[in-house]
Amino acid sequence: MLDGFSVLDDVVRHLSKLPGIGEKTATRYALWMVEHKEDALLLSNALKSAADEIKLCKLCRNLTRNADGVCELCKDTTRDNSVICVVESFENFLAIESSSVYNGTYYILGGLVSPLYGIDLYRLGLDYLVKRVIEESINEVILVVSSTLEGDLTTQYIKESLKNSKVKITKIASGVPLGTSINFVDKSTLIEAFKGRHAV
Ligand SMILES: [Zn+2]
Repeated sequence: MLDGFSVLDDVVRHLSKLPGIGEKTATRYALWMVEHKEDALLLSNALKSAADEIKLCKLCRNLTRNADGVCELCKDTTRDNSVICVVESFENFLAIESSSVYNGTYYILGGLVSPLYGIDLYRLGLDYLVKRVIEESINEVILVVSSTLEGDLTTQYIKESLKNSKVKITKIASGVPLGTSINFVDKSTLIEAFKGRHAV
């Protein structure tokens, strides 16, 4: 009699894994999908395509569908490839890119060094970033990380790892809220923050 519920349970279980979605919300979404089958199938197809086709750029960790694993931004020869802007999150990258304040390359960390869990080199790819800076003779690394203990630990780690290279390491001016809220920072604030960057 309740055979439909086990299928729905599966949907709820998978939805509950999404950040910020609890079981109650997941159940509401699952029931909505039962009532809106057409939209649910479109969503399902879009999710499958995204999972099948999108990967992280092997140079900067931006999203790409290119078969060689290098995103359009990294292939763009009009960009200044002597500078890398290291951002904490994908949201930071999108905000900076949409403001047109910067025309160099990027490296998306996807997290920060944690005082509790230490330096997770594999997850943050910090080792790869350091290698890239040295091998590509990068002139400047611009850090866009939160002014928090985690942000400071990440800055220190990058600085220490690159101390024998000639690269200039700078940080954008403080006062710009980071994390996801950087999306709401207006363009002129970002321009000022980039102009006011200082050596670390
Ligand atoms: Zn890229």
